[in-house]
Amino acid sequence: MEERILKKTAIFIAAVSLAVCLALPFFPRLKTASGEFLTAVKEYRTKTKAERLDMTGLELMAYHMEQTAKEMGEAPSFPSQIRLELPFGVSGGDLEVVREDIAQKITIRIPYAGEDYMYEYPMLGSGESIENLSYKYEKNYGILEFLMEQVYEPDVGYDEDYFYLDFLSPQELYNNVVVIDAGHGGSETGTVKQGICEKDINLDIVIRLKEMFDASKEPVGVYYTRTTDENPNSEQRMRLAEKTGADFVISVHNNATESGRMSSIQGTLAIYAEDEKEGEFSSGHLAQICLEEVTAAAGSSNKGIRPGKKEEKILYGTIPAVIIEAGFMTNETELGNLCTREYQGKIAKGIYNAVMRAFEEGY
Ligand SMILES: [Zn+2]
Repeated sequence: MEERILKKTAIFIAAVSLAVCLALPFFPRLKTASGEFLTAVKEYRTKTKAERLDMTGLELMAYHMEQTAKEMGEAPSFPSQIRLELPFGVSGGDLEVVREDIAQKITIRIPYAGEDYMYEYPMLGSGESIENLSYKYEKNYGILEFLMEQVYEPDVGYDEDYFYLDFLSPQELYNNVVVIDAGHGGSETGTVKQGICEKDINLDIVIRLKEMFDASKEPVGVYYTRTTDENPNSEQRMRLAEKTGADFVISVHNNATESGRMSSIQGTLAIYAEDEKEGEFSSGHLAQICLEEVTAAAGSSNKGIRPGKKEEKILYGTIPAVIIEAGFMTNETELGNLCTREYQGKIAKGIYNAVMRAFEEGY
């Protein structure tokens, strides 16, 4: 009985191999895959598909590395950390790469990569710096998700058969790194005055600032906790600062009187961590720089610097951080100004100048 099954399997494998060999001249693209195909047949004997289905993405990649090394008699080499095989008929330019810095995640969307992509097209590379690797298939796209140990920017390239992926750290790419945080977001509106939400003004200022950094040629890496109306929690915001290895964080907010009533009080204020008032590269000194630059650029009145409460968590991470309260939403004139693109641009220019001055001073 067993012998019969073995015999049938052997005949089947022989028939498939023969079919592939005969078909090769007609499908030149398959030629490069024939080696992998035979490897796949051999792998099938080493580990059952069920066993491979149980593996995590990283284990599967390590397994494919091992098998390929055995096959070739040496470790496979290519000029990047990860090498993906392109599905039949797909060009490297068709792949979409998306970075989500707040989650330290890089996603690659591969058209026409089916449910078995990870098994049919062995991905090779090293799992270094990758915390988790997963694959799913959705609406004609294979979706590969790399959860990284820190923030990396993907560096990609491709040829006819493969897509290559490297991960570059902010420090490899830039001389200086800053995290910009737009306060509140999503369901957390911050102050609301006359139907205007603080979260929206904060974001508008950060978008103006992003436009300036994007246009700048300075070797400064800027990472944002949000650029849309969403609300990462304070742990995620602080983690971004740590995972980018940022030199400091600037959090953009707007103020209100304690009672919340409209008043004549107006102006810009900067907040630092309580125990960091003085000293070189302290949050306190950074707050002073921010205050001077923003009031100079926007022409707002100077409300000074003050220590922040423990609840203002972003201040109490491991690196210098400042909250800028750009203006008072409880002041009629200032609220009007804060809603204009022009004034938002002035606040943003002040923050931009503060970042550059802080880096010049050695932060
Ligand atoms: Zn706020």
